[in-house]
Amino acid sequence: MADDIVWHDHKVVRSQRAENKNQKPCLLWFTGLSGSGKSTIANALDVALHNRGYHTFLLDGDNVRHGLCRDLGFSDEDRVENIRRIGEVSKLFADAGLIVLSAFISPFNSDRRLVRKLFPAGEFIEVYMDTPLATCEERDPKGLYQKARAGEISDFTGIDSPYEAPAHPEISLDTSSSSVDDCVDSLINYLLERKLIVG
Ligand code: ADP
Repeated sequence: MADDIVWHDHKVVRSQRAENKNQKPCLLWFTGLSGSGKSTIANALDVALHNRGYHTFLLDGDNVRHGLCRDLGFSDEDRVENIRRIGEVSKLFADAGLIVLSAFISPFNSDRRLVRKLFPAGEFIEVYMDTPLATCEERDPKGLYQKARAGEISDFTGIDSPYEAPAHPEISLDTSSSSVDDCVDSLINYLLERKLIVG
């Protein structure tokens, strides 16, 4: 920590940035196994919100690993740092007044708790993709389960690296039994009920 670095207060504050956009910022944090549907549902919700005129931003696991987090691997230590960085970036986007959708496996409770703590109460919405491992493995959209089972990749969540299910997520979705549209409807209804969006 750099003790000599002074925090600058900005003249335009968070609430004013959101007011100009006519919306309330929040972070929808999608967590779950690979193939559980995080990217698919986050993208579909992004489209639904965008079409309603909301200002959103989608942060996605694979994409940040090409840039912001390209120096990180999949060891426990690197996963912690990966989520810490994404949490901070999500906070900056929310400070800019955006509705942020972040889709990351984020297997550890402690990391998700750290991100939650960066946000005012009610603005961190944990979306647990509670799709059974068997379904995720059967889908295997990127062929990674097959490689993990064959021992070609290690530290793969759900196979040889743990996934800690959230104890109290704001929303749980199981894409083995709910369609993409149903999942998006559930999320939109949640945002409407909490008055985070108005229509
Ligand atoms: P993750 O981001 O969690 O790794 P993806 O969204 O990349 O998961 O992959 C989920 C896969 O499951 C996609 O190929 C998607 O088309 C498929 N799928 C089938 N049914 C659903 C559903 N109801 N919801 C989301 N994804 C589904």
